[in-house]
Formats: sequence, structure tokens, C-alpha cells
Amino acid sequence: MLSYSTQLIEDDDIALVNEVLQSRLLAQGPRVAQFEQDLCEYTGAAYAVVFNSGTSALQAAYSVIGIQEGDEIITTPISFVATSNMFVQLGAKPIWCDVKLDGNINEKQIEKLITPKTKAIVVVDFAGKPVVMQSIQNIAKKHKLLLIDDASHALGSSIDGKKLGTFADMSIFSFHAIKPITTSEGGAVLTDNAEYAEKLRLFRSHGVLKKELWNSDMVSMGYNLRMTEVAAALGSSQLKKLDKFIAKRNEIASYFDERFKNEKLFLTQKLEKNTISSRHLYPIILNPELHCPKEDIFKEMQTRGLGVQVHYKPIYKNSFYQKQFGMVSLPVANDFYNSEISIPCNQTMSMQDAEYVADTVLNILNKYAYRGCSF
Ligand SMILES: *Cc1c(COP(=O)(O)O)cnc(C)c1O
Repeated sequence: MLSYSTQLIEDDDIALVNEVLQSRLLAQGPRVAQFEQDLCEYTGAAYAVVFNSGTSALQAAYSVIGIQEGDEIITTPISFVATSNMFVQLGAKPIWCDVKLDGNINEKQIEKLITPKTKAIVVVDFAGKPVVMQSIQNIAKKHKLLLIDDASHALGSSIDGKKLGTFADMSIFSFHAIKPITTSEGGAVLTDNAEYAEKLRLFRSHGVLKKELWNSDMVSMGYNLRMTEVAAALGSSQLKKLDKFIAKRNEIASYFDERFKNEKLFLTQKLEKNTISSRHLYPIILNPELHCPKEDIFKEMQTRGLGVQVHYKPIYKNSFYQKQFGMVSLPVANDFYNSEISIPCNQTMSMQDAEYVADTVLNILNKYAYRGCSF
């Protein structure tokens, strides 16, 4: 099965993990500090604080930046549930902003959702494509709102040569197994704000400040959300290969773009010329006549060896959110959910694999194209 996304672990990754496993320190130590420094060097962010998951990184970011009960957060429904879960558990309310057909928040619809209770805008760079950062930064600045970038798909993505992780007050990354690089499970918050970085470190580790000798002081509430030395070593090793992974995923994605450029049955995600995408996903957006047979299309793709997935069910359609916040329905987000399929595009694939994927996708979609909704 060719997966929509997967990890690539090589001998040098394994050797390094082995070395750390045989070392004295397994919990937080120099490997964690090194990985944080590597992330800063790679992205250009001033501070990186790593966590045991992207979800923990989101929890820490929202807590430390001061999101609280009664705040309204303008965000996208087209994401993994953790993006909003972690501020909802702080008592904040999601204000859903509709998306565009590239899966990213529609920046033109943000401003009308702002109220006196709005505290932050939380965006997601869907599939690795950067959101329209300049406009969103301007809105945040004009209305004095915090800007948080859930860039879990987008380590290595950039705008005008500047890496994501440097555009928002805080940017969140995930190193879950199938994200752009992996630490098996892991995450990070990147920020240019020294005070935030300090608070994130405390939040990650019990709120405890080490003093001299055995003396320490717990100065704020904290948890244990730490990344292990083993995971951090894997992270540093993987980060060295990120540009190679991205180049490979872009080679496959460009091949797909070329193969699909005259397609009438579906759209693909178009990138701006001044941006680079990590290409974490390669989404195709089916035309309405393919919505009815989508289940059969999906099943046949799987049967024929394409490990496809749908990203994402709009978060407001989950029963928890419906019970907590009532029914919500946004036209483009709903349509996107009915239309989207992420097809295999990952760094372990050969160009022959890519050719097989393109051939199979075209073959299946053409087969179902005129079946419509009558069956
Ligand atoms: C994967 C992901 C997360 C959660 O990260 P974990 O490391 O799995 O906890 C959050 N937001 C988005 C957009 C993601 O894709």
C-alpha cells in the first residue's frame, strides 16, 4: 500500500537512537537542547521548545499565551481536532471561519468575525501550503489579536524564503510518525518572544525552576510534557534530511500537477510562486458529480493499493462540538469535506510509484464520473 504520508527511517537514524539508548540520560538532557537549537537554525526562529506531542505543544502555547474562559478564538474547521480541543479545554470558544478550496482559512472572512471577546486567530497551513500570512498578520495587528500558527503540516514550508515558524506569535509543529519529520511522537512551539519561551519551558516541566544544589522552586502550574532524549536525537537526525524529503515530495507533487493540469473532474492545490510547501499531503478536490460515488471511489483506490485518506471532517461536525457549541455549517468547509481525498505522495515513493498513483486516480475517477447520484 502506498500511503498518503509515511515516515522514512534510515540506518543513521537507527544508529543514533541506539547510541542514545545506551547513554546515561534518557529523559530530558543535551539531545533535547540540541534538537531545539537545530530547529532554531533551520527555521530562523529565536526560540524552540519541544514537547512530547504536537497536542502538548498546542496545550502549552494556548495556556502560556493567556487564552482563558470566555475568550473567542477565530479558527479553521479544516484541521485535526487538537487545534481547537486544546483551547476549548481552557474554556475558550471556537469561532469558525470558512475556508477556501485549497483547504486554508479564508483570510477575507476573518475580520467580520471579530468581537470584543476575540483573543486570537489560529490558522493551519493545510497540507503544508502557507496561509496568506501577510493579510492575516495585518488583521491581527490592527485588532491587537494574538496570531497562532498550527504549522503541524508545514515544517520546511516558506514564504519569500522565510520559513514558517517565524510569522506568528507562536507556531506549533508536530513530529508524529507521519508528519514532515518524526520523533515517533513529538511537537514543538517556535517563537521569537523570550518570555513566552521561558513560560513554555516551565509549563512543560511542572513549573519548577532549578536553583542551586538541591533547591528548586515551583513558580507556576506545570505538567510533564517533556520530549525524551531518544526522541530528540531522532528529531535532529531527521531534520538533516528534511530538505531532501521535501524535494522528493515536491518532485512527485509536480509530476502530479503536470499529469492533472487539464483535468476537469477535480482540482489540485495551487501554490503561490513565492512559497514552498512541505507537501505533507497531496489533496485532490473532486467536482460535485463525484461526491455521491466518493465512498466507492475511496474503497476502490484502497483496493488498488492507494493508501488514501480524507482530511478533514470539519471539526464542528463532531458530536462533542455539536453538543457543546450547537450546529454549525459553513458552505466551503462542508463542500471541501465532501470533495477532498489525499492521495499517496511521500518521500519513500519512486517515480514509478507516482506514475501508478496518477494512472490509477485518473482511471478510477473517469470510471465513476458519469455515475452521478442516481445509484
Ligand atoms: C498532527 C496534528 C496535530 C497534533 O499533533 P500530534 O503530534 O499528533 O499531537 C495538530 N494539528 C494538526 C493540524 C495536525 O496535523
